[in-house]
Amino acid sequence: PLPVVAVVGRPNVGKSTLVNRILGRREAVVEDVPGVTRDRVAYEAVWNGRAFTLLDTGGWDPEGEGMAARITAQAEVAVTAADVVVFVVDATVGATDTDEGVVRVLRRSGKPVILAANKVDGPSAEADAAALWNLGLGEPHAVSALHGRGSGDLLDAVLNAV
Ligand code: GDP
Ligand code: MG
Repeated sequence: PLPVVAVVGRPNVGKSTLVNRILGRREAVVEDVPGVTRDRVAYEAVWNGRAFTLLDTGGWDPEGEGMAARITAQAEVAVTAADVVVFVVDATVGATDTDEGVVRVLRRSGKPVILAANKVDGPSAEADAAALWNLGLGEPHAVSALHGRGSGDLLDAVLNAV
């Protein structure tokens, strides 16, 4: 079986955009309004000749009751299935309480975690990415899933962790 890479994080941080960037095609559903993405969709991806299963997650209604709890629950399921986790944070927003909750799930799992500091569309947002060292998950990999910035380095780190 192929190694499984799960992409987790709050709604609207750009998980599905990142999945599409990695796939090189627009297959995952990207929504301006958070909460519409289907739950746990698996895709087959290839990077540097190495194939892996890419797991997109989402589908919570952020206005709904117990949103944070459902995000952590979803992360737990995805992490259980994963060999490596890509944790996506919106660097322009910074770490929220919900992000901290996901971090606790990730730590407990013992799985390798690659931190993607997304929405770093230009050099002026690099400092936002660096602030995410505070999450204690190691180096924040600055990426712009929208424009492709940094996605190659991120994938190198992901495949190194498999
Ligand atoms: P998800 O809910 O985490 O899957 O997030 P989506 O991939 O659906 O993206 C949510 C919104 O963020 C969409 O409007 C995307 O176009 C936008 N977005 C995603 N990545 C980036 C990025 O790198 N930069 C900017 N500026 N916007 C992004
Ligand atoms: Mg999504």
